[in-house]
Amino acid sequence: MKILRELLGQDLEPDPNGGGFRIIKGVAADRRISVADGEMRHGRKSKSKTIKGYKRHVATDLESQSIVACAITPANQPEHEALPMLKSDIAHQSIRFGEAHFDRGYMGSPAVDEIEKEGAAIFCKPWTPHNTKNKEMFTKKDFAINLHSMEITCPQGQTQPLALGRTIYFNAEMCDVCAMRKRCTSAKLGAGRSVAIAEDEPRQEKLRRMMKTPSGREKFRQRVPVEHRLAHIGQRQGNCAKYLGVRKNLYDLRRAAMIQNLEIAQRKAA
Ligand code: SF4
Repeated sequence: MKILRELLGQDLEPDPNGGGFRIIKGVAADRRISVADGEMRHGRKSKSKTIKGYKRHVATDLESQSIVACAITPANQPEHEALPMLKSDIAHQSIRFGEAHFDRGYMGSPAVDEIEKEGAAIFCKPWTPHNTKNKEMFTKKDFAINLHSMEITCPQGQTQPLALGRTIYFNAEMCDVCAMRKRCTSAKLGAGRSVAIAEDEPRQEKLRRMMKTPSGREKFRQRVPVEHRLAHIGQRQGNCAKYLGVRKNLYDLRRAAMIQNLEIAQRKAA
């Protein structure tokens, strides 16, 4: 009865015009998608790719190619929420590493800073700012960010002080009369251009600089085997969760990872 109330409550609301209930517009937050499994959720890998159920996460030792940590999260949880679980798995085995190569989705976790403080160099292919609606528009990369003087300068030379983790607003009066305004902002007159500065902007800046060099791009390519490990696990486990709940599916992921690691060890020994 409790589950039935939960399922109805997330899709129906009292009809203000009378006559009972009506279907809610939009999707309830943390919407339950299964009667049998209360932890499964709808999620997204990208704008076009949806996931129903769970996301699997693995950490791979790039040298030995073995999987050293696993995590399972409901599909609506962002990737970075899995990183503390992977980190805890790794710490449990007293593994220390000199480099950590991340998929971008994990970079939002405070655990990235902790890993860096523990002595690992952080690598991750940086985001490329782009405007999907109009490629002619200025993006963040057209602005000069100076992290020494903590200033940001727009393509027309307007400079503003910057702060990490803040959105910087350019002077609206100057933007209103700017010859490049149409290429810079779609904000109404009276509102200037804004640029978001990430909390980890210095790290992102360093990664963007690396991306411009052949040796930097080569470094980012070192993460590719992790995708191969994930693909192999995917083939082994299939795309449907075999069990109910995070705990049992994590057990299943660890089982699959262990078999994969044994196969790698066997290949090396042959
Ligand atoms: S609209 Fe404002 S921020 Fe953009 S280029 Fe012009 S002055 Fe600079």
